[in-house]
Amino acid sequence: MGMEETWDLVVIGSGGAAMAAGIEARSRGKSVLLVEHGVLGGTCLNVGCIPSKNLLAAAGRRHRALVNPFPGLPTGAGGVDLAALMAQKQELIDRLRQAKYTDVAEAHGFPVMYGHARFVDEQTLEVDGERVAGAAYIVATGSAAHIPALPGMDTIDPLTSTTAMELQDIPSSMVVLGGGYVGLEQAQLWSQLGVAVTLVGRLAPHAEPEVADVLRTVFADDGITVVEERAVALERTADGAVLVRTERGAQLTGQRLLVATGRHANTDDLGLDDAGVHTDDRRFITVDAHQRTSNPRIFAAGDVSGAPQYVYVAAQTGHAAAAGALGRPTTVDYRGLPSVTFTTPQLASAGLTEQQALAAGHECDSRVLDAQDIPRSLANRDTRGTLKVVVDAHTRKILGVHAALDGAGDVMLAATYAIKFGLTVDDLADTWAPYLTMSEALRICAGLFRSDMPTSCCA
Ligand SMILES: Cc1cc2nc3c(=O)[nH]c(=O)nc-3n(C[C@H](O)[C@H](O)[C@H](O)COP(=O)(O)OP(=O)(O)OC[C@H]3O[C@@H](n4cnc5c(N)ncnc54)[C@H](O)[C@@H]3O)c2cc1C
Repeated sequence: MGMEETWDLVVIGSGGAAMAAGIEARSRGKSVLLVEHGVLGGTCLNVGCIPSKNLLAAAGRRHRALVNPFPGLPTGAGGVDLAALMAQKQELIDRLRQAKYTDVAEAHGFPVMYGHARFVDEQTLEVDGERVAGAAYIVATGSAAHIPALPGMDTIDPLTSTTAMELQDIPSSMVVLGGGYVGLEQAQLWSQLGVAVTLVGRLAPHAEPEVADVLRTVFADDGITVVEERAVALERTADGAVLVRTERGAQLTGQRLLVATGRHANTDDLGLDDAGVHTDDRRFITVDAHQRTSNPRIFAAGDVSGAPQYVYVAAQTGHAAAAGALGRPTTVDYRGLPSVTFTTPQLASAGLTEQQALAAGHECDSRVLDAQDIPRSLANRDTRGTLKVVVDAHTRKILGVHAALDGAGDVMLAATYAIKFGLTVDDLADTWAPYLTMSEALRICAGLFRSDMPTSCCA
């Protein structure tokens, strides 16, 4: 890794986008170096997907034991040893870092250099002050939790999803700011571990209204207070707790505050201005459809490029950026893109909401299936759920599928296939769906476009 060597590609970061770029470059027989100033693996592994889904699985296990709907089968749950829970989470992260990052980089044949990368001009990158030469570069530096500058924020010590998932002691109560997917997951996670949670902010603002309504009901049932207003000021109370004031004058208190109001791009101290790389008004790097920045030698991928913040998007944009940087411009196909919020029930979608379909110029038609009409939900004795299918009224092709259901995320795989490969609602209605799976909801809902008469088992 010497100064004299020129790499075909140098990638800043070691998260999902950077790893994909490294793999892509090696598959094309090119030399590639990753540069990381923190821990190998980036957000998803260290502070994002993996720890949150692991802890949600644990908290959900406790919750199911406490609120078992089956008579004649008493269950219960004891206290929570948070330090032990956090230790198993860390063990999982460390194991996956080795198996999915260290070993993978080695197998594909690309090194990772540790240090802070920064451009000094349009051609030159330095890592901790040492020149590292690449024929092309990819910025894959990700994003980090953003703390809004609300009055009084400086008087308290707010948690983010990152620091909350490192707590060793359970707080008695918590106010969560933000009802996007990170806020929803954190609110339910801590609630299910026994914390009294208040969520401040619009709940699932981008979800279909029918879907968001399900989560409203479930959060209310589970004792999570939801205040769908904007927080305007914060205060530290005499006993060290946090008081949040909302736009309409509500005052909410919690022992801790967890901020989940969005993430900012990691673009500070990267020398982007010196390199002639343009950013937008939120400091995300501006890229074209090939992930190219305003500097033709520099590409960007993943969260930092303003792409939807999912690790599979980071990976696809990483592949495209590497292919482009190595002379094969490629675009990412976003048709049918799925997204999942891993609450119970999961909120999940693929493709367009009704509003997005209308905005895109479709004349559309939609049907909503209540979980009362889904055999799996009835068998589970939990009918708080819904699934909505949006189609083009003329072609009858599926444009979007949205659900709040146990396992909704898995249902979306079929929805993504349907959207990407242009299936019609009749294709779905006329195709097998295994009885008593949640994905059967897709077939039943497709049937509603033909008739709203009740269905018998599979008929
Ligand atoms: C709580 C939470 C839960 C999530 N859950 C999911 C989920 O379930 N499913 C899903 O798909 N997505 C999830 N995400 C989103 C997902 O984690 C991100 O979209 C994805 O990890 C972004 O990958 P990336 O490669 O763009 O950036 P990152 O993974 O953030 O990697 C960027 C890397 O660049 C390094 N870096 C930054 N600046 C420099 C520099 N100047 N020099 C050297 N190195 C630098 C950083 O240290 C970091 O390691 C979650 C996110 C959060 C916060």
